[in-house]
Amino acid sequence: MHSPIFSLEIFPPKRNAPVGTIYDTLDGLEGLHPDFISVTYGTGKSSDRTATARIAHTVKREYGIDAVAHLTAMYVTKKDVDDTLEMFREAGVSSILPLRGDVVEGRTPAGVFTHASDLAAYIKSVDPSFKLFGACYPEGHPQSASLEEDIENLRKKVDSGVTHLISQLFYSTDEFLQFAELARKKDITVPIEAGIMPPVLAKSTLRMAKQCQAHVPRHLHQILEKWQGNKEALQQAGIVYASEQISELIANGVDGIHLYSMNHPKVVRRIWNNVSSLFEVVE
Ligand code: FAD
Repeated sequence: MHSPIFSLEIFPPKRNAPVGTIYDTLDGLEGLHPDFISVTYGTGKSSDRTATARIAHTVKREYGIDAVAHLTAMYVTKKDVDDTLEMFREAGVSSILPLRGDVVEGRTPAGVFTHASDLAAYIKSVDPSFKLFGACYPEGHPQSASLEEDIENLRKKVDSGVTHLISQLFYSTDEFLQFAELARKKDITVPIEAGIMPPVLAKSTLRMAKQCQAHVPRHLHQILEKWQGNKEALQQAGIVYASEQISELIANGVDGIHLYSMNHPKVVRRIWNNVSSLFEVVE
């Protein structure tokens, strides 16, 4: 276990992608020893419902790393959740990140679970042995009227059984630190990991930031603009940017760093090389 916590997110390959690509990702992460790897849950049409459990099983059983399986709430019934929990148990997965999920155009919500906290409470009621994680938003969830309102709702998430929070990506470290302070003032005492998305591609960084309504500081805009036509240079600058964010967060006492790997182990490895000595191994 690291102090602060060090974890990664990976996503299942698309339904028609070769199954071996996930092994390339996991092999590429060898030797990094994250405290856990979380595996996303796709809600789109090309997603395979069983992929999260299968990949979480691979992470746990074949690579010996704790796995956290994401599960979205909006389009599922209680029976779907019961079946998925059974799949997770069989896969040896004991940690879940319940999410509401994003709206998928053309799909009608099942109308059973409105918020992530409803799904969290349901999972706890049927099997309290699962450890539950939750998402949080340093700049407020885009659908919240204010950051304060979002933190009130985050409190409900924690009250429904979530004992570990992972943040949405952000590029302004100050915004995260202010959010964490506000959450503590509202008596949210569970660990809050900072979600770091390395800004290594200009278009997708700006697209994601827009989608998540994450503030892009002037300094980052300058980096993206200057090297948008030079893939290698932008990758290097993005790795430096993420490494500096991590260093500043750790200096300010963050509980953990959750790196959105985007299934790019080379980028993760280069960041880890820059920051590994900032993490202590406590066991
Ligand atoms: P909620 O916690 O339900 O919040 C959504 C909105 O409702 C917020 O505005 C909140 O303030 C409000 N709210 C929450 N609870 C209440 C309540 N009890 N009463 C009234 N209002 C409330 N998406 C995927 O499809 N698959 C994934 O694997 C995935 N992984 C993610 C991992 C992380 C770490 C993060 C940060 C996001 C992830 N997402 C994923 C995206 C996520 O599904 C979206 O951000 C979604 O819009 C909100 O999900 P949530 O679980 O935070 O929702």
